[in-house]
Amino acid sequence: MSAFIEAASPHVMNTYGRVPIALERGQGCRVWDVNGKEYLDALGGIAVNTLGHNHAKLVPALQEQIAKLIHTSNYYHVPGQERLAAKLVELSGMSKVFFCNSGLEANEAAIKIARKFGVDKGIANPEIVVYEKAFHGRSIATMSATGNPKIRSGFGPLVEGFIRVPLNDIDAIKQATEGNPNVVAVFFETIQGEGGINPARSEYLRDLRKLCDERDWLMMIDEVQCGMGRTGKWFAHQWAGIVPDVMPLAKGLGSGVPIGAVVAGPKAADVLQPGNHGTTFGGNPLAMRAGVETIRIMEEDGLLENAATVGAHLKASLERALGSLPGVKEIRGQGLMLGVELDRPCGALIGQAAEAGLLLSVTADSVIRIVPPLILTTAEADEIVARLTPLVKALLAQ
Ligand SMILES: *Cc1c(COP(=O)(O)O)cnc(C)c1O
Repeated sequence: MSAFIEAASPHVMNTYGRVPIALERGQGCRVWDVNGKEYLDALGGIAVNTLGHNHAKLVPALQEQIAKLIHTSNYYHVPGQERLAAKLVELSGMSKVFFCNSGLEANEAAIKIARKFGVDKGIANPEIVVYEKAFHGRSIATMSATGNPKIRSGFGPLVEGFIRVPLNDIDAIKQATEGNPNVVAVFFETIQGEGGINPARSEYLRDLRKLCDERDWLMMIDEVQCGMGRTGKWFAHQWAGIVPDVMPLAKGLGSGVPIGAVVAGPKAADVLQPGNHGTTFGGNPLAMRAGVETIRIMEEDGLLENAATVGAHLKASLERALGSLPGVKEIRGQGLMLGVELDRPCGALIGQAAEAGLLLSVTADSVIRIVPPLILTTAEADEIVARLTPLVKALLAQ
């Protein structure tokens, strides 16, 4: 542990269990710490650094934007908002966008849209269906919608108006909502990220879309982590051929510049009116430029296809290296959003992997999560497997 890292901690709140390294610079899928040690980045800032580090096309565009305007406020029109919104509408097949700064803010806006959608049609106490193992953020409302009791505990009273059901069980949601006239929306991730890389099945998504239409519920899909090309389509729900009514986005949208967005379809696009919602930083010129350039570069460089093909290669390599080990329960996920579930807690792997020159994370206690930049090459994918395999074997041999 270097002296710099010890000296850095006394004045920062102790909210994270941090690995004792400090990163200084990056290039592509590699980063270097303050002592010059190199790491392969299979975490991508938690599914944020879509274009990796120091991207040759992104950096000059952001530098140019910073020299022109960083922030102005929403007192005035921000042309970048219209540019990015039009692009998100085109990619999603939806209608309108609200911009904010993070995942939880996008989800807060979605919850407000759902409630007002209900109130506007005469439902005084609207309720929203949410899921076991879901993660929607750390604010009071999004934490209340989150499934993990550990995240909620100590912060009550929670926000009311959520009904919790298990994923991939259409009968369970029908039962939980039977005869309840207050339900206004269902809210879920296509692939649960923090909950352990748990995909919603395509058949379930299509059944749920039908149910939402029959009952006039908003289908709200939190694509904060699984969206923006990570699975090989722009949005993970597109694999099921459905379109949601509300879609929060954040993590990968700005390649590292803080940004959030809520995309809404025709049923939800005009629910919020002047005075209903807002944010100081949301949609500022720097964040909008980051979003526009990220999508432009993804299109130019074929990164959706790269996420799909390199992701499939990585998943197959993980299967070959780890799939048959006793102690490895399942390898799942799609594109460059993969999880390896072990039969035991494996949080210690985060530090061990860093020591071995690999950045990754563990979610839901026992799931190794791999969410690298979408520029990952097959050679780098092989390197991830080569560095990870001996660590998993050693852990399982204990
Ligand atoms: C990370 C995440 C959030 C919260 O995003 P923040 O930017 O940390 O507030 C919400 N939903 C999902 C699915 C996430 O993965």
